[in-house]
Parts: sequence; C-alpha cells; structure tokens
Amino acid sequence: MKKLGFGLMRLPKLPGGGEKDVDKAQVADMIDYFMSRGFSYFDTAFVYHSGESEKIAGELLVGRYPRDSFQLATKMPVMEMKSGEECERIFTTQLERTKAKYFDNYLIHGINRGTAGKTEEFGVWDYLKRQKEKGLIRHLGFSFHSTADHLEQILNEHPEAEFVQIQLNYADWESKEVQSRLCYEAAEKFGKRVLVMEPVRGGALAAMPPEVREIFFRAAPERNLASWALRFAGSFPLVDVVLSGMSEMKHMIENTETFDNFEPLSKEELGVIAEALEMLLKMPTVPCTACKYCVDSCPEKINIPGIIKLYNDYHIYRNLEANKRRYDMVTARGGKASSCVKCGECERHCPQNIGIRDTLELAAGDFE
Ligand code: SF4
Ligand code: SF4
Repeated sequence: MKKLGFGLMRLPKLPGGGEKDVDKAQVADMIDYFMSRGFSYFDTAFVYHSGESEKIAGELLVGRYPRDSFQLATKMPVMEMKSGEECERIFTTQLERTKAKYFDNYLIHGINRGTAGKTEEFGVWDYLKRQKEKGLIRHLGFSFHSTADHLEQILNEHPEAEFVQIQLNYADWESKEVQSRLCYEAAEKFGKRVLVMEPVRGGALAAMPPEVREIFFRAAPERNLASWALRFAGSFPLVDVVLSGMSEMKHMIENTETFDNFEPLSKEELGVIAEALEMLLKMPTVPCTACKYCVDSCPEKINIPGIIKLYNDYHIYRNLEANKRRYDMVTARGGKASSCVKCGECERHCPQNIGIRDTLELAAGDFE
C-alpha cells in the first residue's frame, strides 16, 4: 500500500459555509484523483466536521467504490464521552454514517493524560475488542497526544493495540512536548506499526520564514516545502501511513506526486533539514517554559502558556491560518488573549519574568 493517507478532517468548504458545509463536488474529485493514483487509505473521525466527514466518507467513498478497494479508519471520541454506555451509540452511528460494514483501522481518539483514565473507566478497550471479535473492526489502535513514557505505559497495559498514530515531523522530532523521536522509539520497542499525523505540523512546515525557505530551495529548487516534511515522516521503516489533511486539489496533486515513487530522504537531504532546523531554533521567541505557575492566578482563566506557544509558533513558521484554528481550540475553555484585564497577577508568578500582558496584547492582534 502506498504510504500517503487522505485525512478527511479539513475538507474544502463551500464559500461562506460553516463546519458542515463541505464542498462535496470538490471532495469527490479529490477522492477520485487519489484512488486513480493508486492510493487507498482514508482517515475520518466521529467529530470531524461535526459528523459530516463520516457521512461524506459513506457517500463519496463507500458509496462509489468497492469495499475492498480502500481502507477506512475512524475513531472513538473519548474526549467527548460522559459514560461507557455511549460507546454503542457512537459505534452504531459510525457504521450507519459510513455504511462501511467494518472499519479497517479503528482508533481510540486522542489519548492523552486527560483522556487515558476515562478510556479505562469507560471500558472502551473491552468494548472495541468485542467489535473486533465480531469482525466489525479489522485492526485496533489509538491516536496519541502525550509523552513517550505515557505511550510506553499504555502499550504495556494494552497489548491488544496493533498500531499507534503519533505526531511525527522533523520540527518536533526532538521537542520536549511532542517527543516524536521518543514516541517512535517506544512504538518500535513494543513492535507496533506507526501511523503519522501532523507530518507538516498543521501546515507550518509548508509555510516557513524566507531565510529557512531559502535553505530548502537552494538544495532543490523544484521541490515544495511540504514534500520535505512528508518524505521525512515517510522515511521511517515502521511507518505504514502518513496522513495529510488535504483541503484542496493542489495539495492532493503535490502530495500524491511525493509518494508516487517514494524515496526516503538521503543523508545529504537530512543535512538540509538539520540546517533549516538550526535556523528555526535561532528565531527569537518568548521564553515560556509552560510551567503554568501563572495560570491559577488569572481571573479570566486565560490559557497563558497555550497562547504564548501559538504566538511563538506563528512568529517562527508564519502560518496564520493554522494558528488561528489552533487558537480557537487553545482558548475554548477560558478567556481569549483580549479578555486580559491587565491586573498583572500572572507576571508576579512567572519565573521567566515574561511581559505576559504585552505578549497577550500582541497575540490578540495576531489571532483575533
Ligand atoms: S494580567 Fe491578564 S493574563 Fe495576567 S492574570 Fe491578569 S487578566 Fe490574567
Ligand atoms: S509562568 Fe511564565 S514561563 Fe510559566 S507558563 Fe506562565 S508565562 Fe510561561
């Protein structure tokens, strides 16, 4: 199977449309193009496009192609669940929406430190194992958003997991938060297959400041920036699928081209990436360590480290659209940067002496 997977989470929308107003004609063309080039892996989830993504997979993929000509993956949204009884309703809805009869890969969606306990408490693994025994799931795994030691713990406790979907890209390969390398090595240690999400870091690695872009273009003027990131992710032997949330035909054409006659990165090309990373690390950023000492004192419940991280990200990679999208998620449970009343409480607790109030004002200017 070719390694590129079509992530159905950022589908093209109709002009002026909301989350559910997907441009189906364009998606049908993209699916047809993808399949005609010999690609066959599709990834959706209960929550993507508020449920519309699974319905579109049903209508435009399952309804138009033989069931054995593609692989379909979807996910159990543990983060939204209130009890284990919901597993049955959700799983049945997914089968109805997609009309898929069975799922090739089924994932517990987004295990992290917040959802891991719920997953156990609600008996999600056991429920899904039963669906697998009935033949409704071919392979069982999970998508993961936490640290490598946590991943090892889960793989230890759940040998039934056949694969893990991790965030893997060259910018996060050695990062403290995402730990792409350590997570990959944990999967390797347990002999699990790896599926990759965020290979282009939400589009950031296809944007880049001009001085970094120059490094890549000097090495290969004909190649687009996304192809470097996709080839990095696809070069690892345990990686089965590299997911890309393609939202327009142009991306589909470029990305299928990259994977059509896939070539792992050479030593020289890895050197180019190392040079680009070195330049990225030199970019000036706000020195927040995400210690969270500032958070409890904020009367507006502003996710200060989350906003500063996005602010830094944006000023390194210059990818406004993706960061605005993330900003809405990061601020969903508290105040926006603009709701800061400038009381200064946070700054009294910050060991890095960051001018939090000024930084939030700048972030509000960027993202709101
Ligand atoms: S200055 Fe703003 S961010 Fe800091 S504690 Fe006060 S309201 Fe919260
Ligand atoms: S206290 Fe300072 S360093 Fe710690 S999370 Fe808040 S802003 Fe970042």
